[in-house]
Order: sequence, then structure tokens, then C-alpha cells
Amino acid sequence: MALCNAHYYATRDPLGAAGDFTTAPEISQMFGELIGLWAADLWLRAGKPDVAWVELGPGRGTLSADALRAIAKAVLTPPAHLVETSPLLREAQRRAVPGATHHDGIDTLPTDRPLIVVANEFFDALPIRQIVRTEAGWRERMVDCDGDRFVPTVGAQRFDAVVPDAVSDGDVIETSPASVAILRDLAARIVAQGGALLAIDYGYEGPLAGDTLQALRRHRFADPFAAPGEQDLTAHVDFAALAEAAHAEGAVAHQVTTQGALLGALGITARAATLARAAPNRQSEIEAAWRRLCAPDAMGTLFKALAITAPGWPMPGGFG
Ligand code: SAH
Repeated sequence: MALCNAHYYATRDPLGAAGDFTTAPEISQMFGELIGLWAADLWLRAGKPDVAWVELGPGRGTLSADALRAIAKAVLTPPAHLVETSPLLREAQRRAVPGATHHDGIDTLPTDRPLIVVANEFFDALPIRQIVRTEAGWRERMVDCDGDRFVPTVGAQRFDAVVPDAVSDGDVIETSPASVAILRDLAARIVAQGGALLAIDYGYEGPLAGDTLQALRRHRFADPFAAPGEQDLTAHVDFAALAEAAHAEGAVAHQVTTQGALLGALGITARAATLARAAPNRQSEIEAAWRRLCAPDAMGTLFKALAITAPGWPMPGGFG
């Protein structure tokens, strides 16, 4: 999954109508602006420390561009650090966020100041492992070759010992050790340096969700084992596991909320009305974007938000 996605993102811009999927920052500028204001509000209440802005997997850089423009009005102009592995998307990000520093991973992020970290649809792109119930007990799902095709199979090793006792039904357990490792490292940084993290993604907060591995191509679901590296591979994010990882490092993990509730609390309805007043010919487009981002039958409920903060930092807006 890691290799497929590395190739996939290195060789195309997958976003938007002409690509494979559309993300919240690409739907409307309101998304990035409100996340920027979320960060600026937290920074103000934390006593205006010298912070760094960090985005994980910024795609075209739209979220950071919209957020940094909005927070510049609050007289906050932090240095921008973008964690991105795709050379092609780095180019787009350089155009959207001039002067940003790129990083291959989180190890090289600044160590001398609080970090405000934002990740939208980042964790879903990281590799997962699946443990599946078979007649011979729990085994790891593996990938085999059948001629020139990839096919799912199960490994020979027994995995029963790692299955929590609480799992009584369901046939698939997913874990994302890569996501947990990144979140733990970031949480440790935030505890040591101060700051906060906001992760938004589609996902669940327990109970176990079963098999959520999916492939998207041209805005439609596809067979995840077909066309390796040519379609977007994702899995739903286990927010309880991320919160637990933050907690294990001593960070404060706030109650997971939904994208709709978060954007509502941050004032998206008022922002949409202001934008529509300024551009009456775009009113229906702005209303449609508001609906897509917030409605329970669109992204409002499936997408969740997790905030973590350093101990002693204020409660982030929209949480608690
Ligand atoms: N956040 C953007 C893009 C989401 S797509 C948006 O909301 O529009 C996922 C992004 O994560 C892409 O920029 C992709 O290149 C990047 N990415 C995927 N795996 C990564 C990894 N292991 N390390 C760093 N970036 C990664």
C-alpha cells in the first residue's frame, strides 16, 4: 500500500474533477480559512508564542494557502513547513505557499518552537495492516501474485495472540502502525515544544470498522488489488487509536468531533453568508459547498476531527 501510494502521488495530481477524488480544501476556500482561524484563535489564547505552521500531505497546498492568508489578518505570519513526499505535488505547493520549507518526514521539523500541525486526508493514505478471521484462526491478510495480477491471501503465521479479547464478532481488524508511529512522534514533539495538531479525515472512533481498504479512480470505487500505483488507496482512519497514541505520549487528546460540527462551531454559516453577499452571482455555488462540507449525508458526519494539544495549552475552538 505504501509503495503503491508513493508511486501514485509521485506521478500525478489526483485532486479535483479531472482527477480521482476531491478534498475539502478543494471544495471551498472556507475550509482552509476556518482552520487558519482555529489556529490563530488558539495561538492568541496561548499567549502569542513564536510558532511554526506545519501541514502533513498538503496536496496542492490549497489548505495552507487559504489558512495562512486568513491568519495573516490576525497578524500571525508563521514560517510554513510542509511534509510531502511527492516531487510533483511539492511543485504545486511551492506555487501556493511561496517560501515554505519542505520535509520528507516529521523528523526534520523545527525543534525550537511550538508546532501547529494540520493534516487533512493525510492519515487515510498511510498503509494499513489487516488481520482476518479464518477457519485456522486469525491471520494477516497478505498480497500474492497470480500471474500478472495481485490477489489477496492470508499469511501462514498465527495472529490470535494480538487480537484483543473484546473482539467477538467481525472478521477483519485493521491497524495502521505507520499512522500511530507518526502521531506518537508528533505528540511527543508537541508535549516537548508546545503546540497543537488538528487531523481531519474519514474514519471512525471505535467500535472496529471491519475492512475499509478502498481504491478510488475517477471518483468511483475500484478494486484495490487492481492497477497498483495507478489509483488512490485509502482506509478509514481509526481515531481512537490516534487519540490513544497522543495520550500515551502525554499530550491532551480532545473528544473527537465531526467535520460538520467543527466547521459549524468555527462559524462556516456566517462565513458562507459573507462570501455570498460579496459575490451574489456565486451564491448557489457557495451554498452547495457549505452543504457538501457540512451536511450529514455528505462529508459532515463521515469526516471526523481530532485535536491534540500540549498540556497547559488552551482548549481548541470547536472541541469540548
Ligand atoms: N491534504 C490535501 C491532500 C490529500 S491527498 C487535501 O486535503 O487536498 C494525500 C496527500 O498526502 C498528498 O499530498 C500525498 O502526496 C501526501 N502523502 C501521502 N503519503 C505520504 C507520506 N507517507 N508522507 C508524506 N506525504 C504523503
